[in-house]
Amino acid sequence: MNRRSQVEASDRLRAALGRLEAIVGKAHACWPEDDSFEGYLRDETYLRGAASLVLRPGSQSETIALVSELNALRREHASEKSQLAFTLRGGGSGLSGAAVPAQGIVLDLTRMNRIIDIDEKNQTLRADCGVILSDLNAALVGAGLWYPVDPSSLGLCTLGGSVATNAAGPSSLKYGTTRQNLASLSWLTASGQVVAAGSVPVKTSMGFSMTDLLCGSEGRLGLILDATIRLAGQPADAALVLAGFADEPAAVEMILQLRAAGLKPRSIEMLDAYSLRLVDFPVGAAGALLMIEFDGDADEVTYALNRLQNLNKSVEWIAARDENSRRQLWAKRKAITLELKKRYPFKLGEDIAVPIPALAATIAAARHEAGLSGVETAIWGHAGDGNLHVNYLLESEAQLPKLEPLMLSLARAATRVGGAMSGEHGLGRLKRKIAQNVLPDEYFAVQRSIKTALDPHLLFNPALESVA
Ligand SMILES: Cc1cc2nc3c(=O)[nH]c(=O)nc-3n(C[C@H](O)[C@H](O)[C@H](O)COP(=O)(O)OP(=O)(O)OC[C@H]3O[C@@H](n4cnc5c(N)ncnc54)[C@H](O)[C@@H]3O)c2cc1C
Repeated sequence: MNRRSQVEASDRLRAALGRLEAIVGKAHACWPEDDSFEGYLRDETYLRGAASLVLRPGSQSETIALVSELNALRREHASEKSQLAFTLRGGGSGLSGAAVPAQGIVLDLTRMNRIIDIDEKNQTLRADCGVILSDLNAALVGAGLWYPVDPSSLGLCTLGGSVATNAAGPSSLKYGTTRQNLASLSWLTASGQVVAAGSVPVKTSMGFSMTDLLCGSEGRLGLILDATIRLAGQPADAALVLAGFADEPAAVEMILQLRAAGLKPRSIEMLDAYSLRLVDFPVGAAGALLMIEFDGDADEVTYALNRLQNLNKSVEWIAARDENSRRQLWAKRKAITLELKKRYPFKLGEDIAVPIPALAATIAAARHEAGLSGVETAIWGHAGDGNLHVNYLLESEAQLPKLEPLMLSLARAATRVGGAMSGEHGLGRLKRKIAQNVLPDEYFAVQRSIKTALDPHLLFNPALESVA
């Protein structure tokens, strides 16, 4: 294309984008020359993308109008199709690069933040996709109900983003991930239709489960407009206990023992020696730490604590029973990430999931391999459900090329033992190439067929279809 036709194409594109801007209003559009634009090219990974425009719709009707106008523009400007696509963005707290655009338009959905309905009898809450997760529980204060999906990022991530990634947290051991707590949703297809899926009763048998398909879809199949989530009754009592162990195999043995005894904690977290030193847990020198939380009524919690103590009398558990002490210990657990960010300019948090008996060997292998590459690690995780965060800590950008072989080896290790290469963050742009080296071709063929059926012209999140 010569210079003149390049200028004409760019003018045409700018005019087309202007038609989209008119739907949300100038105040809610952000162009490359604006100060806040750069933030939309990133999530919480080290990846940086590219885009031409950011739009911030304030309502479902504006969002529906945007998709309809985008389809019209694509028909008029067929040669500019790749620039006329939406990258969907919630809180931008993702750890897989799924909301990092390659080109086109970023749709920031955080202005769509109404809590639409709290139904105490059905124990459900319906809200727009852009509500920040912690605002859901704030709205439930006094109702005796809570939303038990508790990713550490709940003050940053949106309901839509958490559904699109099937987010989970420590309490998922007892209460399930987003998927188990999602009753229904309404979503906008690439052709502009609004479709309702799911139901209030847990039991449905009505063909393909679209809620299950959309949950974890990373915005590849459609835009989740709003979702109805299931709530749980606030437990009357809770206790958090922690103890140090000589090493990870000893800590994992404890988890296996308590499972075999039929104990059902709300969460079991495991931290390696390096992580627990960073935040001064009250356990002295230990090779690994277990944090176990029980909830229920007071008798249930007391019974569980006694039973745990009797399983192995040599373990010294430190118990926090009041809310304040529990909060302080959880704050220490969450502060580890901040401490690491202060010390290392680059941190990549992997999130494989493996069967519990394979936890200790997987940790040892991950640490050993990283050591061979000269990369430091901090390893912790929601060990009760086998979900491990292997954090690779890099001193400088020059070490970034070391990550891919380590991620590949970790993904292979998880897959070999029947686990998953991502337990909660998703594949995003970060792990797609690695996935292609680990998962069978048929896996991708089926996924591609589903994408093609629902979004044949790559209107939503096109960057997730390539492996670049
Ligand atoms: C400090 C920290 C701690 C974290 N802890 C956890 C944790 O404990 N557990 C956990 O699971 N994750 C955790 N995460 C990762 C992240 O917070 C989750 O993946 C979260 O669910 C992403 O939500 P978001 O709104 O920020 O989505 P974004 O990052 O904006 O987007 C994530 C994906 O969702 C898609 N998406 C967003 N909104 C919609 C929508 N309305 N419709 C369709 N697709 C949409 C995007 O296109 C993208 O593919 C953590 C992140 C940080 C920074």
